[in-house]
Amino acid sequence: MAQKYVSILQAMQQGSGSVSIHGWVWRERGSNKLKFVTLRDSTQVIQCVFEAVDFASRWSEIDKIQVEAALEITGEIKKDERAPTGYEIHVTDFTVVGKSENFPIGKDLSVEFLADNRHLWLRSRKMTAMLKIRSTVFGAIDEYFKGEGFYEYHSPIFQAVQCEGGSELFKVDYFGRKDIFLAQTWQLYAEPAIFALEKIYTIAPSFRAEKSVTSRHLTEYWHAEMEMAWSTFADIQMHGEKLLKHIFTRVLEKNRGELEILGRDVSKLEPIVTKPFIHMTYTDALKILKEKCGMDIEWGKDLRTIEEERLSSLYDVPVICSNYPKKVKAFYMKEDPADPRTVQGCDFLAPEGFGEIIGGSQREEDLEEIKKRLVEQGEKPEEYEFYLDTRRYGSVPHGGFGLGVERVIRWVCGFDTIKDAIPFPRNPERFKP
Ligand code: ATP
Ligand code: MG
Repeated sequence: MAQKYVSILQAMQQGSGSVSIHGWVWRERGSNKLKFVTLRDSTQVIQCVFEAVDFASRWSEIDKIQVEAALEITGEIKKDERAPTGYEIHVTDFTVVGKSENFPIGKDLSVEFLADNRHLWLRSRKMTAMLKIRSTVFGAIDEYFKGEGFYEYHSPIFQAVQCEGGSELFKVDYFGRKDIFLAQTWQLYAEPAIFALEKIYTIAPSFRAEKSVTSRHLTEYWHAEMEMAWSTFADIQMHGEKLLKHIFTRVLEKNRGELEILGRDVSKLEPIVTKPFIHMTYTDALKILKEKCGMDIEWGKDLRTIEEERLSSLYDVPVICSNYPKKVKAFYMKEDPADPRTVQGCDFLAPEGFGEIIGGSQREEDLEEIKKRLVEQGEKPEEYEFYLDTRRYGSVPHGGFGLGVERVIRWVCGFDTIKDAIPFPRNPERFKP
């Protein structure tokens, strides 16, 4: 007879009577009379008890059940205060679907060992909790943009132009050609599409040849980007704030259990939803850094990580820092008419030292100005012809931003490193498994 399997969570909700579940052995211990197996599935864990008197002929099979074996179990469920999750199943029948011997991951293993065994470590409670939060974050981004009337749009990953700095490009061998790169951003291929769809977004991988290993850079990360026609600089900042608020709202609705498993202090996440973000210009930021942190930075220098961290740790919500000096920012950012030394670009700096989460700007819409800026940054405008057409035929005010999805996940989860925010992290030192 085919059994109807329920999830462990459903079995616990049923609370009594006969249930059939399937999952993997999380923990096991036993004697020659009793065996306790804690089974886990994607929803919960539950203690299951095998008694030798019920399984005289199959005891050696039960005795051999090890961590991470896959089991189907039928039994009687009941409340039991002593069991780890408050319920216990008294096993009446079982099948070992997939055996497991000497699962390599136990307690107290080094970070390197766990990274080498990432494919197995994904099953851990920590990684499972992260993966669930990750799923919520991706869903919330999608939901936010769709709800605001944005179309989902896709740009190529093989690209013939670059826009975020040549030193961080991954060149690929494209049938012998050496001038093709993996996308660092969708932007140059997104701007042409706003003339068709006006408001667009994507969630896609971006690739950056980051030379050093840091706690917030990956060489392959997921990038949520938006671009909109007819925008003002204020619109771009507003969407960034509303998007982050929406993501945090959904995580707090759906993932309290996971945050608890990760030991994350939820009171650090609540202000992101309830309080307005802090707006300041780069020039104000320099003043605050000088007055409150004793850091004297010459006007015109980009903020370094340490300075961003100090600044953002003064608040419990992100700082939206705007109007950076023109020369430290990309060629496509619009000069601010009110202060032409600066551009209408902004970075969202997360509290608790999690650093930059979003980078965005109003885009320069004037053809001659953008050509001039390209030349100033050492680029050849002729290679950007297709892009420059966006400024030739019906150019309009527009802007957009990019959000690093793993940066958000790391922040939500409170992880020390961004590596824990993605199933298989890639950085200069880590590209396997
Ligand atoms: P940083 O100064 O931290 O290197 P950036 O200025 O290079 O960031 P942008 O080019 O503005 O970043 O990219 C948009 C967003 O993409 C950033 O705000 C960040 O959240 C994310 N991001 C950028 N580089 C990486 C990376 N190497 N790994 C993970 N996320 C990244
Ligand atoms: Mg960078």
